Amino acid sequence: MRTPGPARPTTAPSTDPAPPSATAPPVPVPAPDSPAPEGQPSEAVWDVVVVGGGAAGLAGALMLARSRRRVLVLDAGDPRNAPADAVHALLALDGTPPLELLARGRADVERYGGVVRPARVSEARADGDLFRVTAADGVVVRARRLLLATGLVDELPELPGLREGWGSDVVHCPFCHGWEVRDRAIAVLGTTPMAVHQALMFRQLSDRVRLLTWELALGEEDLARLVARGVEIVPGTPVGVERADGALKGVRMADGSLVEAGALTVQTRMHPRAEPFGPLGLELAENAMGTALAAGPTGATSVPGVWVAGNLADVSAQVGAAAAQGALAGGHINGDLVMADADLAVAAAAA
Ligand SMILES: Cc1cc2nc3c(=O)[nH]c(=O)nc-3n(C[C@H](O)[C@H](O)[C@H](O)COP(=O)(O)OP(=O)(O)OC[C@H]3O[C@@H](n4cnc5c(N)ncnc54)[C@H](O)[C@@H]3O)c2cc1C
Repeated sequence: MRTPGPARPTTAPSTDPAPPSATAPPVPVPAPDSPAPEGQPSEAVWDVVVVGGGAAGLAGALMLARSRRRVLVLDAGDPRNAPADAVHALLALDGTPPLELLARGRADVERYGGVVRPARVSEARADGDLFRVTAADGVVVRARRLLLATGLVDELPELPGLREGWGSDVVHCPFCHGWEVRDRAIAVLGTTPMAVHQALMFRQLSDRVRLLTWELALGEEDLARLVARGVEIVPGTPVGVERADGALKGVRMADGSLVEAGALTVQTRMHPRAEPFGPLGLELAENAMGTALAAGPTGATSVPGVWVAGNLADVSAQVGAAAAQGALAGGHINGDLVMADADLAVAAAAA
C-alpha cells in the first residue's frame, strides 16, 4: 500500500513553468518516465491529474489534496466568466472578481500540497492502466485517474459590435447580471426559442423589456405570455450594436431605426472544451442550450477512471454548482482510489 502522507514527486523537466501563485513554494512536475516502484504506482505518476483549474477543477483538487492524494492541476487560465467584473450569486463570496476567486482557490489547493501549473492540455489518452496527459508546451504527465473540468465556450450571435459588451452590458444570465442591469431598457435578441424564457426572466428585473424577434417565430402561447407581462415585441432584423462613449446605445435595425437599450441579452450556443479528450472516447450529451460531456450524478463518465465536472458536464452550472460538482467528483475519485489501493495491498500481501 502507498505510504500515507503527501508524497511529492521529486524530479522536474526543464520545461516546468513557474507556479501560478506567488504565495506557494514551487513544487516540481514529475518527470514522465521515472520507473515505478515494484507493485506500487510510480512516484512519477500522479494519483489524479485535473485538467482545468476553474471552480470545478479546483474544488475537485481541494478534496483530493486534503485526502493526501498527489494531485496536479493543469490550467490554461482563461475561465469562462473572465470578461465579467465580478462573480455574483455565490454565497459569501458575491462580488469577488473571477480571477481573484480562482487565485484564492489555487492557494487553497496548494496549502494542502496540491500542485497547480499553467498549461494548456492538448491531449489526454489511456496509457495501459494509466492516463497520459500532454500539454501544448510539451510536458507529459501520467495519472491513475483524470478529472476533466475545462468548461465551455460561448458562441455569440453574429452581430457587429455585440462582442465588445460581452459580460458587462451584453449578458446571458439573469442570475449573474440581472441585478446589475435591473430597471434598464433591456433588449432581448431572439436567436433561439430560449429567448422567450430569457425575456420573461429579465422582465422580473425590469419593466422595460423588448424582444427583438429576428430569427424567431413566436407561438401563440409564448406571445400571449409576453404580451400579458408587458414585453414589447419588435419585429425586424438587427444589423449592429451601437455604443457611445463606451456605453450601449441600442440595436440598429435593417430599416434604419434604433432600438434603444441599456442592456442586451443573448442566448449563446455552448460548446464543451473537449477537443483534447477525443482519444478517451467520452460520450456527448445534447440539450436545448448546448452540448456537454455525458456523466452520471457524481461526474463519473462511461470511461473507467475519468470524471468530469462543471460546465464541461453541465452547461447550466453556475460557479457554485460547478464547484459543488467538482468537489463531489473529487470525493468519489478519492473513494475509488482508496479501493484500488486496498486491492493493491491485498495483492502485495498475498505475493
Ligand atoms: C460573462 C459571464 C459571466 C458569468 N457570471 C457568473 C456569475 O456572476 N456567477 C456565476 O455563478 N456564474 C457566472 N457565470 C458562469 C460561470 O462562468 C461558470 O459557472 C463557471 O465558469 C464554470 O466553472 P468551470 O470550472 O466549469 O469552468 P471555467 O470557469 O470556464 O474553468 C475552466 C478552466 O479550464 C481551463 N482550460 C480550458 N481548456 C483547457 C485545456 N485544454 N488545458 C488546460 N486548461 C484548460 C480554462 O482556462 C479555465 O481556467 C458567468 C459566465 C459568463 C460567460
